[in-house]
Amino acid sequence: MPFEYDDQNIFAKILRGEIPNDTVLETEHSLAFRDIRPQAPIHVLVIPRGRYVSFDHFAQEASEAEIVDFVRAVGEVCRMAGVEADGFRLIANAGKHGVQDVPHLHVHILAGRSLGRMLS
Ligand code: C5P
Repeated sequence: MPFEYDDQNIFAKILRGEIPNDTVLETEHSLAFRDIRPQAPIHVLVIPRGRYVSFDHFAQEASEAEIVDFVRAVGEVCRMAGVEADGFRLIANAGKHGVQDVPHLHVHILAGRSLGRMLS
């Protein structure tokens, strides 16, 4: 099934500058900003600038330059946030069962408190 991207999603509007955001990092192909409803003391979202709905869409269709840039941006946010010492969690929700609210790929970086066990 082809991936269908909705240009009216809120992160597309953020990328177009139509909605403000609290930016922590900008790179050629990615943008990182603080989540407006933080679930932990550090809660940053990293998104590619390209029109990708989900991680699987990105992995299938993004260029190597976009993929390298995105992965490095995630790593750089972790470094900037100083999360190495006590650890962090990366989450990328997708689709209905993943309970993805915004249909533009985003990785959550959560840190600053013990996040509990997700899987048992
Ligand atoms: O993974 P999911 O799609 O559920 O998460 C979307 C996230 O985007 C939420 O954590 C929400 O707080 C965040 N958000 C934001 N800025 C907006 C709209 C949503 O940080 N303007």
